[in-house]
Parts: sequence; structure tokens; C-alpha cells
Amino acid sequence: MAGNSLNSVDPEIAGLITAEERRQADTVKLIASENYVSRAVLEATGTVLTNKYSEGYAGKRYYEGQQVIDQIETIAVERAKSLFGVNHANVQPYSGSPANLAIYLAFLNPGDTVLGMGLPFGGHLTHGWSVSATGKWFNSVRYGVRKETGRIDMDEVRALALEHRPKLIFCGGTAIPRTIDFPAFAEIAREVGAVLAADIAHIAGLVAGGAHPSPVGHADVISTTTHKTLRGPRGAMLMATSDEHATALNKAVFPGLQGGPHNHTTAAIAVALHEAAQPDFKAYAAQVVKNAQALADELAGRGFDLVSGGTDNHLILMDLTPKGIGGKPAAKALDRAGLETNYNTVPFDPRKPFDPSGIRIGTPSVTSRGMGEAEMRQIGAWIDEVVTAVAKGDAEDVIGRVHREVSDLTAQFPAPGLS
Ligand SMILES: *Cc1c(COP(=O)(O)O)cnc(C)c1O
Repeated sequence: MAGNSLNSVDPEIAGLITAEERRQADTVKLIASENYVSRAVLEATGTVLTNKYSEGYAGKRYYEGQQVIDQIETIAVERAKSLFGVNHANVQPYSGSPANLAIYLAFLNPGDTVLGMGLPFGGHLTHGWSVSATGKWFNSVRYGVRKETGRIDMDEVRALALEHRPKLIFCGGTAIPRTIDFPAFAEIAREVGAVLAADIAHIAGLVAGGAHPSPVGHADVISTTTHKTLRGPRGAMLMATSDEHATALNKAVFPGLQGGPHNHTTAAIAVALHEAAQPDFKAYAAQVVKNAQALADELAGRGFDLVSGGTDNHLILMDLTPKGIGGKPAAKALDRAGLETNYNTVPFDPRKPFDPSGIRIGTPSVTSRGMGEAEMRQIGAWIDEVVTAVAKGDAEDVIGRVHREVSDLTAQFPAPGLS
């Protein structure tokens, strides 16, 4: 049993993994939060490191046998510090949501006030949204975007901060197509004595690759996932520049919230950070943005209503109301055509979150496959053809044809990490 391959031990799961691999190879993945990790990152993830318990931090563990794990975690931490230019990094959070919870535990008591972007405007659940523990256990106040511009209203942020005196302010989000103004948030946080947390989960790869301004020097703490634009395994990191905050964050992650770190993930994060420090990662980050802008331009030219009118980063949020269709039926039809997106609430959406007006699309995955602006224009045309046909109620032929064309394209751009 011990030496047998997955295929012989559990052909059912092995077959499903192969099917998912094929699906990922054959679709144009436009989910803004996803990517394709390299074969090297995948390899590190599937290793015996998963067998080891390592509660604590390098040099201060609660279990013996850390001769190797301590080295791996130290390398991951040093690479994070050097890539992002911070003094401290914690690579142990299991994922982005627990990383953000650790920030609350480090700086707030239950009932304290947090100011974050509202979920319908592009914020994350963990920034104080009502259904999240962060909205139930803390007093959350939310900012949004201006209706006319679709951009964050910094005057509103400041007014809310002065009125509610939050202990913690979150900036960053999951559906923000524009540059985050970290210095402006920092000024407001300083004015009201709040801790500023920059959640760069979506844009970490752009920050690392120099395609988005860095929050370093502005935010007190930085949280990020490692699996979105950064192109690492599913995981997260917390970073800080002050010693005081670093200690508070470390204690909050362990023993505050977590037990043993996922060492196989830590190793894969180290590999991803090494890859992100190479010159070609800068080119990737720049291309992600160029691709998003080419796709945005194509879609806008075809009458799509883009929130904020375009994009500065890797994602596009669009309101399909002018196309006469909701986000959900559009996303489902696009998926059947091999174009994978997600339906998404748009600011001031009159529809319900489970059946909203918009879809969100992003370019990290297609860029990792090597696609460029010409392919983005083609993808924009396909999106338009499918959405227009579905809105008219007669899409079967179009979906079938687009799916065949999508297959021709994906065959020309093999995805990293897939066999
Ligand atoms: C994705 C994301 C998270 C949460 O990450 P999970 O790993 O899914 O828990 C947190 N904040 C932002 C802004 C995100 O986009």
C-alpha cells in the first residue's frame, strides 16, 4: 500500500484529478483570483513536508526534528522580506481569510471598530462584512465607491474615519479594477490613530513585479494570499515594517489562531517567491496589466459597461445590464463556451448577490500561458458573441462554435504546471 501510486490506490480520485487537469488545460481561465503555478511549485506542494508538525517559529518550536523545516521556513521568510522590501514576514497563515483574522486578533478586541470596503463595492468578506466573523464580532463601518466614477471616494473614507474612529482600516479588495492609493489611506489612518492594513491578496504579484505601487512605507501591516497574481500555492503571508507589529502578528497567527504550519505549502511559497524575484516575473506582471487593458478596451468598444470605465490592474468588473442579461446566466453560458469567469455584484447593484448584474474577469492565468494583447482582443470578441447570443435567447450554435475556437487557442498556449 505505502509505495503505491495514487492511480492504483484510488483510481476514482486520480481520474478526477486528471479530468480537472484536462479542464484547466482546455479552458480560457478568466477568474481574476486564479492562476497556474509552475511545475516546481506543484512539486514542492506534494512532498513529505506534509508529514511534519512544526508549531512555533524557526528556532522556537514545540516539536523536535525541525533541522530541515527551520531552514525551509527561514528561506521563505527571507525571500518574502527581500521581494517586498519589508523587515518582517510571517508565511504561516493557512490562507488569506485566516491571515486577516490574525490582524484583528493582533490589534483589536471584540466590539472594536474596523473600517473596510463594503463587499458589494469590491471589499473582501473579512474586511468587516456582516456574514463574516469580522462583521459579527467587531463593529464594522464600510466605505464604497463614487457612483459617477466607480472609484473609491477618499473623502468618504476620511469622513467615516473621523466619525467612527476605527482602530483598524483595511484597504485593498477582491473586485477593485483601479490602483489603491496607499499614501492617501495612510494619511487618514495616521489622522485617526488607526492601524492601516493593506490587503494585497489580488495584486501581490503586480506589486512584486513592479506593476502596482507598493504599500510598504505606508501600511502598518500587509496581508496577502500567495495563490493569486503571485502565482504560488494556496497560502498567505503577513508582513510588517515595525518590530512591535511583527511580534503582535506572529503571536496572533501562532498560538492565537493556528496550530502547526503547513510545511509543504511553506516550501512551495519559498519556490514561488524565488520565481517572483526573477526578471521574467517583471515582464509577466507588466503583461498581466497590458492584457487586462487590451481586453477592457475591446469590451468597452463592444458596448460593455466597465465599472470605473477600465482597469489599472489585472481585473475588469462589468455591468451587463446594457446587454440585457444578468451576470449569472452570462457566466454560465461563457463557461459552456470554455470561457471561465465569475458572476459578481457591481457597485449599487439592484439585483441580489446570488444573481447579480455583473461578471468579473481577470488576466493572470491567460498571461501565465503566454497569451498577449491579440489573444485578449479575440477573447473579448468571444465574450461579446456569447453574451449577445444568450441575451437574445438563442446561443447554442454560438456556444458550440466559440468552444471549438477556444480549444484551438488553448492548444497553442500550454498552461504552466500541467502535463
Ligand atoms: C482572496 C482574498 C482573500 C482571502 O483569501 P482566501 O485564501 O480565499 O481565504 C482575502 N482578501 C482579499 C482581498 C482577497 O482577494
